[in-house]
Amino acid sequence: MLTNDTLAAWDRESFFHPSTHLAQHARGETASRIISTASGVYIEDRDGKKMLDAFAGLYCVNVGYGRPEIAEAIAAQAKELAYYHAYVGHGTEASITLAHMIMERAPAGMSKVYFGLGGSDANETNIKLVWYYNNILGRPEKKKIISRWRGYHGSGLMTGSLTGLELFHKKFDLPLAQVVHTEAPYPFRRPDSAMSEREFSAWCAEQLEALIAREGADTIAAFIGEPMLGTGGLVPPPEGYWDAIQEVLAKHDILLIADEVVTGFGRLGTMMGSDHYGLKPDLITIAKGLTSAYAPLSGSIVSEKMWKVLEDGTDENGPIGHGWTYSAHPIGAAAGIANLKLIDSLGLVANAGEVGGYLNAGLADAVGGHAHVGEVRGEGMMAAVEFVKDRESRTFFDASEKTGPRIAAALAERGVIARAMPQGDIIGYAPPLCLTKAEADTVIGATADAVKAVLG
Ligand code: PMP
Repeated sequence: MLTNDTLAAWDRESFFHPSTHLAQHARGETASRIISTASGVYIEDRDGKKMLDAFAGLYCVNVGYGRPEIAEAIAAQAKELAYYHAYVGHGTEASITLAHMIMERAPAGMSKVYFGLGGSDANETNIKLVWYYNNILGRPEKKKIISRWRGYHGSGLMTGSLTGLELFHKKFDLPLAQVVHTEAPYPFRRPDSAMSEREFSAWCAEQLEALIAREGADTIAAFIGEPMLGTGGLVPPPEGYWDAIQEVLAKHDILLIADEVVTGFGRLGTMMGSDHYGLKPDLITIAKGLTSAYAPLSGSIVSEKMWKVLEDGTDENGPIGHGWTYSAHPIGAAAGIANLKLIDSLGLVANAGEVGGYLNAGLADAVGGHAHVGEVRGEGMMAAVEFVKDRESRTFFDASEKTGPRIAAALAERGVIARAMPQGDIIGYAPPLCLTKAEADTVIGATADAVKAVLG
Protein backbone atom coordinates (compact mmCIF):
# COMPACT_ATOMS: atom_id res chain seq x y z
CA MET A 1 0.00 0.00 0.00
CA LEU A 2 1.25 3.50 -0.80
CA THR A 3 2.13 5.61 2.22
CA ASN A 4 0.22 8.77 3.08
CA ASP A 5 3.39 10.77 2.49
CA THR A 6 3.78 9.41 -1.05
CA LEU A 7 0.15 10.18 -1.82
CA ALA A 8 0.44 13.69 -0.39
CA ALA A 9 3.53 14.33 -2.54
CA TRP A 10 1.89 12.98 -5.71
CA ASP A 11 -1.23 14.98 -4.91
CA ARG A 12 0.74 18.23 -4.75
CA GLU A 13 2.68 17.35 -7.92
CA SER A 14 -0.15 16.16 -10.14
CA PHE A 15 -3.68 16.77 -8.92
CA PHE A 16 -5.58 19.96 -9.83
CA HIS A 17 -8.46 19.94 -7.33
CA PRO A 18 -11.83 21.53 -8.12
CA SER A 19 -13.16 24.37 -5.93
CA THR A 20 -9.93 24.59 -3.96
CA HIS A 21 -7.66 27.42 -2.85
CA LEU A 22 -4.76 26.23 -4.98
CA ALA A 23 -2.03 28.20 -3.22
CA GLN A 24 -3.17 27.18 0.28
CA HIS A 25 -3.40 23.57 -0.81
CA ALA A 26 0.12 23.69 -2.25
CA ARG A 27 1.34 25.05 1.11
CA GLY A 28 -0.42 22.23 2.95
CA GLU A 29 -2.88 24.59 4.65
CA THR A 30 -6.14 22.95 3.54
CA ALA A 31 -7.81 20.35 5.71
CA SER A 32 -7.70 17.76 2.95
CA ARG A 33 -8.44 14.17 3.77
CA ILE A 34 -7.72 11.04 1.81
CA ILE A 35 -10.84 8.93 2.18
CA SER A 36 -10.44 5.20 1.90
CA THR A 37 -13.78 3.58 2.72
CA ALA A 38 -17.32 4.35 3.84
CA SER A 39 -20.45 2.67 5.12
CA GLY A 40 -23.90 4.05 5.89
CA VAL A 41 -23.45 7.67 6.93
CA TYR A 42 -19.80 7.23 7.97
CA ILE A 43 -16.67 7.79 5.92
CA GLU A 44 -13.22 6.66 7.04
CA ASP A 45 -9.83 8.03 6.12
CA ARG A 46 -6.56 6.13 5.69
CA ASP A 47 -5.64 6.58 9.33
CA GLY A 48 -8.84 4.83 10.36
CA LYS A 49 -10.55 8.04 11.51
CA LYS A 50 -14.33 7.70 11.10
CA MET A 51 -16.52 10.73 10.51
CA LEU A 52 -20.26 11.14 10.20
CA ASP A 53 -20.77 12.68 6.76
CA ALA A 54 -23.63 15.10 7.39
CA PHE A 55 -23.33 16.50 3.85
CA ALA A 56 -23.56 13.14 1.98
CA GLY A 57 -20.45 13.98 -0.05
CA LEU A 58 -21.81 16.96 -1.97
CA TYR A 59 -25.42 16.24 -1.04
CA CYS A 60 -25.43 13.31 -3.37
CA VAL A 61 -24.91 9.99 -1.56
CA ASN A 62 -28.60 9.84 -0.71
CA VAL A 63 -28.90 6.12 0.04
CA GLY A 64 -25.72 6.17 2.14
CA TYR A 65 -22.35 4.59 1.45
CA GLY A 66 -21.44 0.97 0.82
CA ARG A 67 -24.70 -0.35 -0.59
CA PRO A 68 -23.93 -3.79 -2.08
CA GLU A 69 -27.12 -3.74 -4.19
CA ILE A 70 -25.79 -0.84 -6.26
CA ALA A 71 -22.20 -2.10 -6.39
CA GLU A 72 -23.44 -5.48 -7.64
CA ALA A 73 -25.72 -3.90 -10.26
CA ILE A 74 -22.76 -1.88 -11.57
CA ALA A 75 -20.49 -4.96 -11.68
CA ALA A 76 -23.14 -7.07 -13.43
CA GLN A 77 -23.73 -4.35 -16.04
CA ALA A 78 -19.99 -3.90 -16.64
CA LYS A 79 -19.60 -7.62 -17.27
CA GLU A 80 -22.67 -7.92 -19.49
CA LEU A 81 -22.31 -4.70 -21.50
CA ALA A 82 -20.01 -1.94 -20.26
CA TYR A 83 -20.98 0.52 -22.96
CA TYR A 84 -23.08 1.25 -25.91
CA HIS A 85 -24.13 4.68 -27.12
CA ALA A 86 -27.59 6.18 -27.35
CA TYR A 87 -27.26 8.09 -30.65
CA VAL A 88 -29.74 7.58 -33.51
CA GLY A 89 -32.23 5.76 -31.37
CA HIS A 90 -29.91 3.21 -29.74
CA GLY A 91 -30.43 2.09 -26.16
CA THR A 92 -29.81 -0.63 -23.63
CA GLU A 93 -32.16 -2.45 -21.31
CA ALA A 94 -30.73 -0.44 -18.40
CA SER A 95 -31.08 3.01 -19.99
CA ILE A 96 -34.61 2.40 -21.28
CA THR A 97 -35.73 0.94 -17.94
CA LEU A 98 -34.27 3.86 -16.02
CA ALA A 99 -35.96 6.39 -18.34
CA HIS A 100 -39.26 4.64 -17.63
CA MET A 101 -38.63 4.68 -13.85
CA ILE A 102 -37.76 8.39 -13.90
CA MET A 103 -40.91 9.28 -15.79
CA GLU A 104 -42.97 7.27 -13.27
CA ARG A 105 -41.54 9.54 -10.56
CA ALA A 106 -41.63 12.85 -12.46
CA PRO A 107 -44.34 15.47 -11.83
CA ALA A 108 -47.41 15.55 -14.06
CA GLY A 109 -47.01 16.94 -17.57
CA MET A 110 -43.47 15.67 -18.23
CA SER A 111 -42.67 13.58 -21.30
CA LYS A 112 -39.07 12.36 -21.83
CA VAL A 113 -35.67 12.32 -20.20
CA TYR A 114 -32.35 13.16 -21.91
CA PHE A 115 -29.37 11.64 -20.06
CA GLY A 116 -26.12 13.44 -19.22
CA LEU A 117 -23.32 12.94 -16.71
CA GLY A 118 -23.61 15.68 -14.09
CA GLY A 119 -25.79 18.58 -13.06
CA SER A 120 -23.81 21.17 -15.01
CA ASP A 121 -24.09 19.44 -18.36
CA ALA A 122 -27.79 18.72 -17.78
CA ASN A 123 -28.37 22.44 -17.26
CA GLU A 124 -26.35 23.23 -20.40
CA THR A 125 -28.67 20.84 -22.25
CA ASN A 126 -31.71 22.56 -20.79
CA ILE A 127 -30.61 26.00 -21.97
CA LYS A 128 -29.88 24.66 -25.46
CA LEU A 129 -33.33 23.06 -25.57
CA VAL A 130 -34.92 26.37 -24.54
CA TRP A 131 -33.10 28.19 -27.36
CA TYR A 132 -33.91 25.48 -29.91
CA TYR A 133 -37.57 25.60 -28.82
CA ASN A 134 -37.86 29.36 -29.30
CA ASN A 135 -36.09 29.20 -32.66
CA ILE A 136 -38.52 26.53 -33.85
CA LEU A 137 -41.41 28.70 -32.65
CA GLY A 138 -40.02 31.57 -34.74
CA ARG A 139 -39.03 33.88 -31.91
CA PRO A 140 -35.26 34.12 -32.18
CA GLU A 141 -35.10 37.22 -29.94
CA LYS A 142 -36.54 35.38 -26.93
CA LYS A 143 -33.29 33.94 -25.53
CA LYS A 144 -32.22 35.46 -22.21
CA ILE A 145 -32.28 33.34 -19.08
CA ILE A 146 -33.19 34.70 -15.67
CA SER A 147 -31.50 33.11 -12.70
CA ARG A 148 -31.44 34.13 -9.03
CA TRP A 149 -28.60 35.59 -7.00
CA ARG A 150 -27.47 32.76 -4.70
CA GLY A 151 -28.78 30.13 -7.12
CA TYR A 152 -26.37 27.31 -8.03
CA HIS A 153 -26.64 25.63 -11.41
CA GLY A 154 -23.14 24.40 -12.18
CA SER A 155 -19.77 25.77 -13.22
CA GLY A 156 -19.63 25.52 -17.02
CA LEU A 157 -19.69 28.63 -19.22
CA MET A 158 -23.46 28.94 -19.29
CA THR A 159 -24.17 27.18 -16.00
CA GLY A 160 -21.44 29.09 -14.18
CA SER A 161 -23.15 32.22 -15.50
CA LEU A 162 -26.51 31.04 -14.16
CA THR A 163 -24.94 30.38 -10.78
CA GLY A 164 -25.53 33.54 -8.77
CA LEU A 165 -22.44 33.41 -6.56
CA GLU A 166 -19.64 35.89 -7.13
CA LEU A 167 -16.83 33.38 -6.68
CA PHE A 168 -18.01 31.47 -9.76
CA HIS A 169 -17.88 34.59 -11.97
CA LYS A 170 -14.84 36.45 -10.73
CA LYS A 171 -11.91 36.40 -13.20
CA PHE A 172 -13.72 33.98 -15.52
CA ASP A 173 -15.38 36.73 -17.60
CA LEU A 174 -18.79 35.48 -16.49
CA PRO A 175 -21.73 35.82 -16.53
CA LEU A 176 -22.34 35.54 -20.27
CA ALA A 177 -24.47 38.28 -21.79
CA GLN A 178 -27.59 36.11 -22.17
CA VAL A 179 -27.95 35.68 -18.40
CA VAL A 180 -29.60 38.14 -16.01
CA HIS A 181 -30.04 37.70 -12.27
CA THR A 182 -32.95 38.56 -10.03
CA GLU A 183 -33.42 38.70 -6.26
CA ALA A 184 -32.76 35.64 -4.12
CA PRO A 185 -35.73 34.29 -2.15
CA TYR A 186 -33.77 34.67 1.05
CA PRO A 187 -36.14 35.90 3.74
CA PHE A 188 -33.46 36.21 6.43
CA ARG A 189 -31.92 39.01 4.37
CA ARG A 190 -35.17 40.63 3.20
CA PRO A 191 -34.95 44.38 2.64
CA ASP A 192 -37.26 45.17 5.55
CA SER A 193 -37.54 42.83 8.52
CA ALA A 194 -41.11 44.05 9.11
CA MET A 195 -42.17 42.32 5.84
CA SER A 196 -44.11 39.08 6.30
CA GLU A 197 -42.94 36.06 4.28
CA ARG A 198 -45.86 36.53 1.91
CA GLU A 199 -45.05 40.21 1.47
CA PHE A 200 -41.44 39.31 0.78
CA SER A 201 -42.54 36.75 -1.85
CA ALA A 202 -44.71 39.42 -3.48
CA TRP A 203 -41.70 41.77 -3.40
CA CYS A 204 -39.52 39.10 -5.13
CA ALA A 205 -42.22 38.75 -7.81
CA GLU A 206 -42.30 42.56 -8.25
CA GLN A 207 -38.52 42.60 -8.66
CA LEU A 208 -38.84 39.90 -11.31
CA GLU A 209 -41.62 41.82 -13.05
CA ALA A 210 -39.46 44.96 -13.06
CA LEU A 211 -36.47 43.07 -14.48
CA ILE A 212 -38.63 41.62 -17.26
CA ALA A 213 -39.96 45.11 -18.05
CA ARG A 214 -36.39 46.50 -18.23
CA GLU A 215 -35.11 43.71 -20.48
CA GLY A 216 -38.29 43.29 -22.56
CA ALA A 217 -40.45 40.17 -22.15
CA ASP A 218 -39.89 39.25 -25.78
CA THR A 219 -36.15 38.81 -25.03
CA ILE A 220 -36.60 36.47 -22.05
CA ALA A 221 -36.84 32.74 -22.69
CA ALA A 222 -36.68 31.05 -19.31
CA PHE A 223 -36.33 31.32 -15.55
CA ILE A 224 -34.20 28.77 -13.69
CA GLY A 225 -34.38 28.04 -9.98
CA GLU A 226 -33.84 25.35 -7.38
CA PRO A 227 -37.14 24.58 -5.63
CA MET A 228 -35.21 25.28 -2.41
CA LEU A 229 -31.93 27.22 -2.62
CA GLY A 230 -28.98 24.89 -1.97
CA THR A 231 -25.39 26.04 -2.26
CA GLY A 232 -26.48 29.67 -1.86
CA GLY A 233 -27.39 28.96 1.77
CA LEU A 234 -29.95 26.11 2.05
CA VAL A 235 -32.98 28.40 2.16
CA PRO A 236 -36.55 27.11 1.88
CA PRO A 237 -38.64 29.46 -0.28
CA PRO A 238 -40.75 31.97 1.63
CA GLU A 239 -44.47 31.26 1.79
CA GLY A 240 -46.22 31.91 -1.52
CA TYR A 241 -42.97 32.41 -3.43
CA TRP A 242 -43.40 29.89 -6.23
CA ASP A 243 -47.06 30.82 -6.84
CA ALA A 244 -46.11 34.48 -7.14
CA ILE A 245 -43.15 33.77 -9.44
CA GLN A 246 -45.05 31.35 -11.67
CA GLU A 247 -47.83 33.88 -12.15
CA VAL A 248 -45.31 36.39 -13.53
CA LEU A 249 -43.66 33.76 -15.78
CA ALA A 250 -47.01 32.63 -17.21
CA LYS A 251 -48.01 36.21 -17.97
CA HIS A 252 -44.88 36.75 -20.08
CA ASP A 253 -44.69 33.31 -21.68
CA ILE A 254 -41.40 32.49 -19.94
CA LEU A 255 -40.42 28.82 -19.45
CA LEU A 256 -39.61 27.47 -15.99
CA ILE A 257 -36.60 25.21 -15.41
CA ALA A 258 -36.68 23.50 -12.02
CA ASP A 259 -33.13 22.58 -11.05
CA GLU A 260 -33.75 19.49 -8.92
CA VAL A 261 -30.15 18.30 -8.86
CA VAL A 262 -30.27 18.42 -5.05
CA THR A 263 -34.02 18.18 -4.34
CA GLY A 264 -34.80 15.32 -6.77
CA PHE A 265 -35.50 11.81 -5.45
CA GLY A 266 -36.47 12.42 -1.89
CA ARG A 267 -34.32 15.03 -0.18
CA LEU A 268 -37.22 17.27 0.86
CA GLY A 269 -39.35 14.35 2.05
CA THR A 270 -41.20 14.18 -1.28
CA MET A 271 -40.02 12.40 -4.43
CA MET A 272 -39.49 15.69 -6.29
CA GLY A 273 -39.09 19.23 -4.96
CA SER A 274 -41.44 20.53 -7.66
CA ASP A 275 -44.28 18.54 -6.09
CA HIS A 276 -43.24 19.74 -2.64
CA TYR A 277 -43.61 23.43 -3.53
CA GLY A 278 -46.15 23.33 -6.37
CA LEU A 279 -43.83 24.08 -9.30
CA LYS A 280 -45.09 23.25 -12.79
CA PRO A 281 -41.82 23.22 -14.71
CA ASP A 282 -41.20 22.95 -18.45
CA LEU A 283 -37.81 21.33 -17.83
CA ILE A 284 -36.35 19.59 -14.78
CA THR A 285 -32.67 19.02 -14.07
CA ILE A 286 -31.77 15.86 -12.15
CA ALA A 287 -28.40 14.39 -11.12
CA LYS A 288 -26.88 13.56 -7.69
CA GLY A 289 -29.71 11.56 -6.04
CA LEU A 290 -30.50 9.78 -9.33
CA THR A 291 -27.63 7.35 -8.69
CA SER A 292 -26.71 8.51 -5.17
CA ALA A 293 -23.35 9.26 -6.85
CA TYR A 294 -22.44 5.58 -7.26
CA ALA A 295 -21.87 6.49 -10.93
CA PRO A 296 -22.04 9.83 -12.76
CA LEU A 297 -25.45 10.33 -14.36
CA SER A 298 -27.81 13.25 -14.85
CA GLY A 299 -30.95 14.02 -16.77
CA SER A 300 -32.99 16.77 -18.37
CA ILE A 301 -36.69 15.98 -18.12
CA VAL A 302 -38.68 17.64 -20.89
CA SER A 303 -42.37 18.55 -20.61
CA GLU A 304 -45.03 17.40 -23.07
CA LYS A 305 -45.46 21.03 -24.19
CA MET A 306 -41.79 21.35 -25.19
CA TRP A 307 -41.43 17.83 -26.51
CA LYS A 308 -43.98 18.32 -29.29
CA VAL A 309 -42.11 21.40 -30.54
CA LEU A 310 -38.73 19.62 -30.41
CA GLU A 311 -40.14 16.73 -32.45
CA ASP A 312 -41.58 19.06 -35.06
CA GLY A 313 -38.25 20.89 -35.11
CA THR A 314 -36.37 17.79 -36.21
CA ASP A 315 -38.83 17.22 -39.07
CA GLU A 316 -37.88 20.66 -40.34
CA ASN A 317 -34.15 20.67 -39.46
CA GLY A 318 -32.91 17.11 -39.24
CA PRO A 319 -31.65 15.21 -36.19
CA ILE A 320 -31.10 17.21 -33.03
CA GLY A 321 -27.44 18.27 -33.03
CA HIS A 322 -26.84 17.60 -29.37
CA GLY A 323 -25.32 14.49 -27.83
CA TRP A 324 -22.64 13.24 -25.45
CA THR A 325 -20.65 10.04 -25.98
CA TYR A 326 -21.63 8.95 -22.49
CA SER A 327 -25.33 9.93 -22.60
CA ALA A 328 -27.34 7.13 -20.97
CA HIS A 329 -24.18 5.20 -20.06
CA PRO A 330 -25.34 1.69 -19.13
CA ILE A 331 -23.25 1.58 -15.95
CA GLY A 332 -24.78 4.82 -14.70
CA ALA A 333 -28.21 3.56 -15.70
CA ALA A 334 -27.70 0.28 -13.83
CA ALA A 335 -26.64 2.27 -10.75
CA GLY A 336 -29.71 4.50 -11.15
CA ILE A 337 -32.14 1.57 -11.32
CA ALA A 338 -30.67 -0.10 -8.23
CA ASN A 339 -30.61 3.24 -6.41
CA LEU A 340 -34.26 4.13 -7.14
CA LYS A 341 -35.32 0.64 -6.08
CA LEU A 342 -33.45 1.07 -2.77
CA ILE A 343 -35.02 4.48 -2.15
CA ASP A 344 -38.42 2.78 -2.46
CA SER A 345 -37.67 -0.41 -0.55
CA LEU A 346 -36.00 1.40 2.37
CA GLY A 347 -38.72 4.08 2.54
CA LEU A 348 -36.08 6.81 2.27
CA VAL A 349 -38.40 9.56 1.02
CA ALA A 350 -40.53 9.27 4.16
CA ASN A 351 -37.41 8.93 6.33
CA ALA A 352 -36.02 12.16 4.86
CA GLY A 353 -39.18 13.94 5.94
CA GLU A 354 -39.30 12.39 9.39
CA VAL A 355 -35.65 12.32 10.47
CA GLY A 356 -34.99 15.54 8.55
CA GLY A 357 -37.71 17.23 10.60
CA TYR A 358 -36.15 15.80 13.76
CA LEU A 359 -32.70 17.09 12.75
CA ASN A 360 -34.04 20.57 11.98
CA ALA A 361 -35.97 20.80 15.23
CA GLY A 362 -32.98 19.49 17.20
CA LEU A 363 -30.58 22.02 15.66
CA ALA A 364 -33.02 24.85 16.39
CA ASP A 365 -33.31 23.70 20.02
CA ALA A 366 -29.58 23.24 20.46
CA VAL A 367 -28.22 26.45 18.93
CA GLY A 368 -31.21 28.57 17.82
CA GLY A 369 -31.01 30.75 20.92
CA HIS A 370 -27.27 31.43 20.72
CA ALA A 371 -26.30 35.11 20.60
CA HIS A 372 -24.47 34.63 17.27
CA VAL A 373 -27.02 32.40 15.54
CA GLY A 374 -29.18 34.47 13.23
CA GLU A 375 -31.32 31.68 11.88
CA VAL A 376 -31.74 27.91 11.87
CA ARG A 377 -33.71 26.85 8.81
CA GLY A 378 -34.34 23.88 6.58
CA GLU A 379 -36.74 21.44 5.04
CA GLY A 380 -36.63 17.67 4.82
CA MET A 381 -33.06 16.40 5.01
CA MET A 382 -31.55 19.86 4.46
CA ALA A 383 -30.68 22.26 7.24
CA ALA A 384 -28.57 25.35 7.79
CA VAL A 385 -27.37 27.45 10.67
CA GLU A 386 -26.51 31.05 9.76
CA PHE A 387 -24.15 32.95 12.04
CA VAL A 388 -24.23 36.70 12.57
CA LYS A 389 -22.19 39.16 14.56
CA ASP A 390 -25.34 40.69 16.01
CA ARG A 391 -28.72 38.97 16.20
CA GLU A 392 -30.82 42.11 16.20
CA SER A 393 -29.23 43.97 13.30
CA ARG A 394 -28.24 40.75 11.46
CA THR A 395 -24.82 42.19 10.71
CA PHE A 396 -22.23 39.89 9.20
CA PHE A 397 -19.01 38.83 10.83
CA ASP A 398 -16.03 40.21 8.97
CA ALA A 399 -15.09 37.65 6.30
CA SER A 400 -11.50 37.63 7.58
CA GLU A 401 -12.74 36.06 10.83
CA LYS A 402 -13.72 32.94 8.84
CA THR A 403 -16.48 32.13 11.31
CA GLY A 404 -18.21 29.55 9.08
CA PRO A 405 -15.03 27.64 8.17
CA ARG A 406 -13.90 27.68 11.83
CA ILE A 407 -17.17 26.12 12.94
CA ALA A 408 -16.97 23.51 10.17
CA ALA A 409 -13.41 22.70 11.35
CA ALA A 410 -14.59 22.43 14.97
CA LEU A 411 -17.35 20.06 13.84
CA ALA A 412 -14.80 17.96 11.94
CA GLU A 413 -12.67 17.73 15.10
CA ARG A 414 -15.78 16.30 16.76
CA GLY A 415 -16.20 13.72 13.99
CA VAL A 416 -18.98 15.39 11.97
CA ILE A 417 -18.67 16.75 8.45
CA ALA A 418 -20.91 19.70 7.68
CA ARG A 419 -20.21 22.26 4.97
CA ALA A 420 -19.20 25.89 5.32
CA MET A 421 -21.24 27.26 2.42
CA PRO A 422 -19.37 29.48 -0.05
CA GLN A 423 -21.14 32.79 0.67
CA GLY A 424 -21.76 33.99 4.23
CA ASP A 425 -21.19 32.26 7.57
CA ILE A 426 -23.57 29.41 6.93
CA ILE A 427 -23.11 25.79 7.97
CA GLY A 428 -25.06 23.42 5.76
CA TYR A 429 -26.29 19.91 6.55
CA ALA A 430 -27.63 17.48 3.97
CA PRO A 431 -26.95 13.99 5.29
CA PRO A 432 -27.79 10.75 3.50
CA LEU A 433 -31.56 10.18 3.51
CA CYS A 434 -31.06 7.03 5.62
CA LEU A 435 -29.91 9.03 8.66
CA THR A 436 -31.35 7.66 11.92
CA LYS A 437 -32.53 9.74 14.87
CA ALA A 438 -29.54 8.53 16.90
CA GLU A 439 -27.20 9.74 14.14
CA ALA A 440 -29.10 13.04 13.98
CA ASP A 441 -28.47 13.39 17.74
CA THR A 442 -24.73 13.00 17.09
CA VAL A 443 -24.88 15.82 14.52
CA ILE A 444 -26.90 18.07 16.84
CA GLY A 445 -24.65 17.42 19.86
CA ALA A 446 -21.45 18.04 17.87
CA THR A 447 -22.94 21.28 16.51
CA ALA A 448 -23.78 22.59 19.98
CA ASP A 449 -20.23 21.77 21.16
CA ALA A 450 -18.55 23.27 18.09
CA VAL A 451 -20.53 26.52 18.31
CA LYS A 452 -19.67 26.84 21.99
CA ALA A 453 -15.99 26.14 21.31
CA VAL A 454 -15.73 28.78 18.57
CA LEU A 455 -18.18 31.47 19.67
CA GLY A 456 -18.56 30.89 23.37
N1 PMP B 1 -27.53 22.31 -9.88
C1 PMP B 1 -27.55 22.28 -8.54
C2 PMP B 1 -28.80 22.71 -7.83
C3 PMP B 1 -26.43 21.84 -7.83
O1 PMP B 1 -26.44 21.85 -6.48
C4 PMP B 1 -25.30 21.41 -8.54
C5 PMP B 1 -24.06 20.87 -7.85
N2 PMP B 1 -23.93 21.12 -6.52
C6 PMP B 1 -25.33 21.48 -9.94
C7 PMP B 1 -26.46 21.92 -10.58
C8 PMP B 1 -24.13 21.10 -10.75
O2 PMP B 1 -23.95 19.74 -10.73
P1 PMP B 1 -22.52 19.10 -11.07
O3 PMP B 1 -21.59 19.56 -10.03
O4 PMP B 1 -22.83 17.63 -11.06
O5 PMP B 1 -22.16 19.56 -12.43
